[in-house]
Amino acid sequence: MDFSDSPAEADFRAGLRDWLREHLPKGWADREPSPKPLDPLLLRRWSADLHRAGYAGITWPAEYGGQGLDTGFHAVLLEEMARQAAPEHLGMIGIDVVGPVLLAYGTAEQKAHYLPRILSGEVVFCLGLSEPEAGSDLASVRTRAVPDGDGYAVTGHKIWSSYAHRANACLLLARTGTETRHQGLTCLLLPLPHPGVAVVPQRQLTGDANFSEILLSGARVPAAGTVGARGDGWRVAMAGLAFERGVLGVTLAARLEVQLHRVVATARSTGLLDDPHVLDRIGALAVEVAGLRWTSYRLLPRPGQQGSAAAAPSVVKLRWSQAYQGLTELALELLGPAAAVTGDDAYWGGYWQHQQLRSLGSTIEGGTSEIQRNVIAERMLGLPRSR
Ligand SMILES: Cc1cc2nc3c(=O)[nH]c(=O)nc-3n(C[C@H](O)[C@H](O)[C@H](O)COP(=O)(O)OP(=O)(O)OC[C@H]3O[C@@H](n4cnc5c(N)ncnc54)[C@H](O)[C@@H]3O)c2cc1C
Repeated sequence: MDFSDSPAEADFRAGLRDWLREHLPKGWADREPSPKPLDPLLLRRWSADLHRAGYAGITWPAEYGGQGLDTGFHAVLLEEMARQAAPEHLGMIGIDVVGPVLLAYGTAEQKAHYLPRILSGEVVFCLGLSEPEAGSDLASVRTRAVPDGDGYAVTGHKIWSSYAHRANACLLLARTGTETRHQGLTCLLLPLPHPGVAVVPQRQLTGDANFSEILLSGARVPAAGTVGARGDGWRVAMAGLAFERGVLGVTLAARLEVQLHRVVATARSTGLLDDPHVLDRIGALAVEVAGLRWTSYRLLPRPGQQGSAAAAPSVVKLRWSQAYQGLTELALELLGPAAAVTGDDAYWGGYWQHQQLRSLGSTIEGGTSEIQRNVIAERMLGLPRSR
């Protein structure tokens, strides 16, 4: 397969590189990595800049603010942004998951209201899928939406909802029927903040609180907030996750490539770049990054082409999370005892320690490694089901 850019993609990439050089904050390319979160104001301005330049939702139809471009261009965009360590649009979950869901299943009113606002950053979505008893086994969702006037009253407990603390809308999976498992589930659009809803940030090992619990006690959602048919929530939610997986690998591979350059910089500055053991491990990681990049390109849904094997994104997810953890471990070993120091006196402010702790969640988020292995075994290798 030929993975090089088409002439139109190459033009798009060149234009984007120029735009990034011009619009990223001064000195962005040369700044040292840091574990500090980005200034929320900078993030908001940056999202608005991306939108104004037409770089938000480029695959969406023009009538909703997109450019109607195919996935190849989206991959170029995500790859270049990751390579320049550019901040993501504030509403990535809306752009990559909820927007495509609304385009496929939303009503005309939902599309007209939400889609342009997702791109402008006015509406920021989070996902309310996982629950304390429904993670890997998402079909065990217990959050219940019972008929209440013209709509539903929702009661339940969502958990690990990424960026819910800064979101003002949530795509929620709730049980509306009496059926069990994948049947009787419905996707609902829940505004935030909202009466009967408490968003409680959860602190991670890193000290950041990038995800939250969402506690629902009789929260009202009008019937107009139903996405897709009542009872069809499993199909709608799975479609959303599939949209995200389509291009995620390209971003993950590009981010890992940047991290690898940072490991090389650390090896150089600690005087260990010539150590054959260090070179051996850097080489192995470079091979892994290249493998992830080419495999992710291979999985991109191209117009007129058959979709990728359903389980193939699991291979990318599994190998990326292992490589990410291995890379941060190497960085800590290069620093030796200094790796334990955090704060302003630490190497890059304690960036590598922060990254190592953050990488631990990578084998859990978006489906644990055990689940990815089950998927690969059953759907790619045709082995018997685990249960
Ligand atoms: C950084 C991060 C961000 C997240 N963001 C979101 C979000 O935005 N929205 C959201 O809804 N959720 C989010 N999650 C939740 C994530 O989807 C779940 O944590 C994940 O699906 C695992 O579910 P669980 O934590 O309940 O673990 P469990 O499902 O309870 O699993 C516990 C252990 O049992 C193993 N296990 C379970 N079932 C099997 C099986 N059949 N075969 C073999 N082993 C098995 C698992 O691999 C794991 O080791 C996020 C999680 C993380 C870490």
